Amino acid sequence: MERCGFCGRSRKEVGILISGNDCHICDYCAERVHEIISENLKSSVKKQFEVEGGKLPKPKDLKAFLDDYVIGQDEAKKTLAVAVYNHYKRLMQKETDDGVEIEKSNIVMVGSTGTGKTLLAKTIAKKLNVPFTIVDATVLTQAGYVGEDIESILTRLLQVSDYDVEAAERGIVFIDEIDKIARKGDNPSITRDVSGEGVQQGLLKLLEGSVVNVPPQGGRKHPDQKCIPVNTKNILFICGGAFDGIERRIASRLNTKVVGYGAQKEQVKVDQNNLLQYVSPQDLKAFGLIPEIIGRLPLLCHLDQLDRDALRRILTEPKNSIIKQYVKLFAMDDVELTFDESVFDFIVDTAVEFKLGARGLRSIVETIMIDVMYEMPSTGEKSMRITLEYAKEKLKKANIEKLKAA
Ligand code: ADP
Repeated sequence: MERCGFCGRSRKEVGILISGNDCHICDYCAERVHEIISENLKSSVKKQFEVEGGKLPKPKDLKAFLDDYVIGQDEAKKTLAVAVYNHYKRLMQKETDDGVEIEKSNIVMVGSTGTGKTLLAKTIAKKLNVPFTIVDATVLTQAGYVGEDIESILTRLLQVSDYDVEAAERGIVFIDEIDKIARKGDNPSITRDVSGEGVQQGLLKLLEGSVVNVPPQGGRKHPDQKCIPVNTKNILFICGGAFDGIERRIASRLNTKVVGYGAQKEQVKVDQNNLLQYVSPQDLKAFGLIPEIIGRLPLLCHLDQLDRDALRRILTEPKNSIIKQYVKLFAMDDVELTFDESVFDFIVDTAVEFKLGARGLRSIVETIMIDVMYEMPSTGEKSMRITLEYAKEKLKKANIEKLKAA
């Protein structure tokens, strides 16, 4: 009679008996085996984390790593490095009876679009062995409205953690465009502010740490799915936003503050060209974030505008700079690609002239390179030099509007 090789029960006594080569296993035992394997996997992941956690990357190491990929933005780099370091420490803290519990410090980064907020978050994630995801706040709406529910933020985190809830619960989430969920008016009751205050209230739950029921496949399409409870207590949230126009609020705050003794001195120090460096929680409130949210984002830092010099460095210095990427692409065809220095200045001048920013650098280089990329592999030549004349000619024909759109 066919029996389960593990528990010895016969075919009649079990639901399903699966047959192998001269052996059988029943559904109950198969399920137990599965449980044991996933438990083991989990604890080996945990062990790996603890071992690597033993030699925590120090804030200076983290910043040095960021320096390899991101130009400038020192304040943001330091803030991020310290926050991530503390995040690790918090994850390692043991239950003690001294009553001191390290709380998490979520971050908010304020800086114009294209200055490196996402790049910073992505780069730091490379260095870490915790699950990481980027979500866009613009798609979030209050539960029940068109758009995605707040919980969908955690769906992505679960997905990148392979549904290992324990791993997801110590992950990092980058919420982009947090400024887009700012309250539109001062009086929220006049119109229903679907994507504003309601969303902020929802987000608050996640930021402050609570158990949230997360639909594993994402919200609306699968209404019957069983939700997975996820505790956000140890999830680090990094928020980023351009906060367009916040400089005006900063300026007016700085101006109104300038009264009384010593005020004159203070006013002299204000650098009008870079007001963002003075950004304070008050300004975020004036912009339309609710105080509770601001309170849950205790680390506030800014990103500088990228000037000509920064753009020039971005082109060639980062470990995977655009130019290095092209050189590598050509090297794969055994072609040595070189650029005249003047080409770099020309590319930066074009980006500055048409206000294309750092994102524009790539589209400019691509426009210059497309023809040579097309032809070079067939010519059999072993070297290629891009001269200023060549770059100018290629760009002359290009549609600047198209570059801007890119
Ligand atoms: P943001 O999130 O602030 O809108 P991103 O981080 O997406 O901007 O930047 C867009 C692109 O511009 C990046 O992928 C990168 O190529 C380039 N870039 C922007 N800022 C920097 C920087 N400080 N250093 C290096 N590259 C940068």
